[in-house]
Amino acid sequence: MSLIKNRLHPYSNKHTYAFIDGNFVKASTNGISIHSQSLHYGLAAFEGMRAYKTPAGVHIFKARQHFDRLLESAKRIFLDINYTTDELIDISYELLKKNDFEAAYIRPLVFAGDRMELLPSEDSHLMICAWRWPKYFKAQEVRLTISDYRRPHPKSMPINAKVSGQYVTNMLATKTAQMKGFDDAILLDSEGYIAQSAGANFFYEKDNQLFTSPKKHIFAGITRQTIIEMAKEMGIKVVEKKISPKELQNIDGAFLTGTAVEVKPVKSIDEHHVNLPFEETFGGSLAKRYHLSVSGKEVSSII
Ligand code: PMP
Repeated sequence: MSLIKNRLHPYSNKHTYAFIDGNFVKASTNGISIHSQSLHYGLAAFEGMRAYKTPAGVHIFKARQHFDRLLESAKRIFLDINYTTDELIDISYELLKKNDFEAAYIRPLVFAGDRMELLPSEDSHLMICAWRWPKYFKAQEVRLTISDYRRPHPKSMPINAKVSGQYVTNMLATKTAQMKGFDDAILLDSEGYIAQSAGANFFYEKDNQLFTSPKKHIFAGITRQTIIEMAKEMGIKVVEKKISPKELQNIDGAFLTGTAVEVKPVKSIDEHHVNLPFEETFGGSLAKRYHLSVSGKEVSSII
């Protein structure tokens, strides 16, 4: 897999210098192009998946769904790549083998070629890397705050595609939440309802029911869907509905779902603590079941 084609383009030639990190170097190096649109404008699509150690060896959880979503996200921003889902899965297992990883977080990125006009470049590139990332959050239970930053309006970009540029909002929300002493932020949607956290979906529990935001304004994750299916199998009622911030002032429990965060207990939202210990909530049972499933230790693992 070659990351960058060293092709001729109007932005530099073999004599052109650029200043990078304190040094003047040839612009046409073999690294990632300094003229890539992804760097300048955030035009890129990515995925995040986890490989788990299972009794049958390393296994990438829901690899097919993640790579199908990557190809779809890339297509939505006009960055088609010439790989099939099967090829991408094979490359990822090969990458895990080469790095000797029994468990890892895998990050594929489809990024753009060189073009400074505000039109998608006609060439695209693929990078896949992986690293050990046992836990996303340091805290055992997270303290969230409702951010002033909001999810983009669904008409402002394809919000169900995993596009790099969208993550600026999410990063600003997390940074400002942490500056106030919280672990992460909850973003409202453009209508003022609870959407999700910066990098995960949100569920809360009240009176023996689970509630989560509907798909319209959120990035409806693969983990969210897995948890909805597991809950149904376990006879837990899940209601997808618009959630007002006020509702979160008196809830029994809450948790976040996402590939990186897995099923993460929420301790509080702003000054409001959840009423029950996590182990006594549906979230606690679902977190255990999720862990068994991803690590292939449950007979009916949802792979
Ligand atoms: N929302 C956002 C903004 C995310 O980045 C992620 C992680 N990909 C999720 C939700 C959860 O998605 P998934 O469960 O597919 O990992």
